[in-house]
Amino acid sequence: MSASTETLVPFDDVLAAYDPALGLEVHVELNTATKMFCGCSTIFGAEPNTQVCPTCLGLPGAMPVVNAKAVESAIRIGLALNCSIAEWCRFARKNYFYPDMPKNFQTSQYDEPIAFDGWMDVEVDGETFRVEIERAHMEEDTGKSTHIGGATGRIHGADYSLVDYNRAGIPLIEIVTKPIVGAGEKAPEVARAYVQQLRDLIVALGVSEARMDQGNLRADVNLSLSPKGSGVLGTRTETKNVNSFRSVERAVRFEMQRHAAILGAGASILQETRHWHEDTGITTSGREKSDAEDYRYFPEPDLVPVAPSREWVEELRATLPENPTQKRARLQAEWGFSDLEMRDTIGAGALGLVEETVAAGCAPQAARKWWLSELARRANDTGVEIAELGVTPAQVAAVQALVEGGSINDKLARQVFDGLLAGEGTPEEIVAARGLAIVSDEGALSAAVDAAIAANPDVAEKIRDGKVAAAGALIGAVMKEMRGQADAGRVRELIIEKLT
Ligand SMILES: [Zn+2]
Repeated sequence: MSASTETLVPFDDVLAAYDPALGLEVHVELNTATKMFCGCSTIFGAEPNTQVCPTCLGLPGAMPVVNAKAVESAIRIGLALNCSIAEWCRFARKNYFYPDMPKNFQTSQYDEPIAFDGWMDVEVDGETFRVEIERAHMEEDTGKSTHIGGATGRIHGADYSLVDYNRAGIPLIEIVTKPIVGAGEKAPEVARAYVQQLRDLIVALGVSEARMDQGNLRADVNLSLSPKGSGVLGTRTETKNVNSFRSVERAVRFEMQRHAAILGAGASILQETRHWHEDTGITTSGREKSDAEDYRYFPEPDLVPVAPSREWVEELRATLPENPTQKRARLQAEWGFSDLEMRDTIGAGALGLVEETVAAGCAPQAARKWWLSELARRANDTGVEIAELGVTPAQVAAVQALVEGGSINDKLARQVFDGLLAGEGTPEEIVAARGLAIVSDEGALSAAVDAAIAANPDVAEKIRDGKVAAAGALIGAVMKEMRGQADAGRVRELIIEKLT
């Protein structure tokens, strides 16, 4: 089977023969101050194994207690995803051995999730796909293993391994979709848009930092193919921990092409987990996927059931942020964006960024322009999401304010962004330190115009003859002389004044 993975089927050929079915499992690490079942701190970056206690280390006799704030966040996520909220549910033990899991079972939820049967509408290129949510359940994170001595940080070839249990027991919400069918050629984009919109929703709820690059939000991507029109779901593979929006899209595309190659060769798909490789854009075999019965789930005997009152659920419903679909429509109207401009903004994952930039005082079109051109390009060059580029909406608004105030132009603004990415200070400081401010000093401009006229007598002659359009060449010469920092409008006026 590995031979067939090397000859991928062209994407269009996959679609001619098969219907893709997606499934997404997203883990969201909550931003509660304490862990899911104990009072240990959740602050990131502490010395290894300093934020642990008998409960999260799974020592005999330790008794867990449910974190009420985590339950509240879980219910708010469930409500925002249009789910029903369980009147009564329990935790379950998911039994398996892994060194970073000190209890040898994970406290999770199995057949009684806190939230179930919801949906989220996902927009791709102006089309809406309804993604059905099967469940959102509460569980705890594992610790973290570090393998020392191997070439790539993997366990293979390592001399020894270290484990840090600070993360063990941090609250997680796992959000699982039902199979997403009918997306066809848009399947990779629907997967990406779903994760993107889910992240926006989580951020709006304020329940997690939701940074994919820091593992607060992790996506597992399930994919299967069925013969076109058959309606029968095929065997699926699960690509684990895909850590950017772009990679979600790429992983779906790759797995579609790989599945088609295997099925086309008459072989069958192995139900397994797969690893995503960001650098090469491929997946490789992980472990054979366990069925639910292998985990020997049983109800957690040390925790009381969770039975949120209907009054509490309704109180929490009242705290939900604006529904994303209505919000998009409202923003489009407020900003005066065309459908295409709005689609591009959403597609680039820049909706929230533009919103914050406008809130910081920037004109909507200018905010859109900077994020979708200059900053999107830089993010693409460095392979990060624009939200994680390191430039803030307030800084973009400040750069635009300098442009509108006439201190810099668009071209010089690009150098200010260079400075921001290099950590050189505020936009104003960068303009001063790099000497970027536009020269509008009359004497300096007049001298530069005279020099340009003297150096280009033929052009000057054309303008004297009434061919004012030729002024562009002289403006260009002045701008070049003044390293792009001349006030172009005033230069034009001076040329016309001097020659006509
Ligand atoms: Zn603890």
